[in-house]
Amino acid sequence: LDSSDRKFPPEYDGHFDRLLITREEIKDRANALADLIHKDYKGKRPVLLCVLKGANNFYMHLSEALQDLCQGFYTEFLRVSSYDGLNSTGMLEIGGGLKYKDIEGKDVILVEDIVDTGHTLFNLLPVLKSEAKPLSVECCTLLSKRLDKPAHYSAKYVGFTIPNHFVIGFGLDYNELYRDLQDIWVISQKGIDFDQSTMH
Ligand code: 5GP
Ligand code: MG
Ligand code: MG
Repeated sequence: LDSSDRKFPPEYDGHFDRLLITREEIKDRANALADLIHKDYKGKRPVLLCVLKGANNFYMHLSEALQDLCQGFYTEFLRVSSYDGLNSTGMLEIGGGLKYKDIEGKDVILVEDIVDTGHTLFNLLPVLKSEAKPLSVECCTLLSKRLDKPAHYSAKYVGFTIPNHFVIGFGLDYNELYRDLQDIWVISQKGIDFDQSTMH
């Protein structure tokens, strides 16, 4: 991919190894995923449940594409944080103002930025199902990593399967940086080492 026409804030200069996916490609793929979702949910009103913050940019494209297809949906958001105890249990906390009543008995499509090992969804889904009692839950993720071992969870709708590199941009962060990039890049060592305390 030619990255010469890509725009980004000057402080990110040198922070990428390469351009992986352009925003134009993401837009096209979101349209294709919306087609698949519409085929599966025609006549229903699923809840598009955005997992913040990373999925926000993808969520906007996907919901626009569904609107173009006259596919109705409800809009909800949640945030997941790992339980921060002394001994990490892998327990997740669901926050972000989601009320379980709002998805009870409904078809839910969880919108994610990236599924890596699948651990997050493997832990999140049982909690969501038992607490909120949705009618069904599927996952639509922008990215899925190509692993050398089976993932703990595989999403039904996948935008792009990518190599096992750390990627940033289009909502995906490293220490809260890079969410503001228009495209998806592989981070460079300079990006990993960047001391953001020098910025305000
Ligand atoms: P999993 O539980 O599937 O292994 O990973 C889930 C979370 O890890 C993602 O929601 C994301 O926050 C983070 N993550 C995994 N791989 C990447 C990556 O390549 N880039 C970024 N920015 N986050 C990642
Ligand atoms: Mg995520
Ligand atoms: Mg993150």
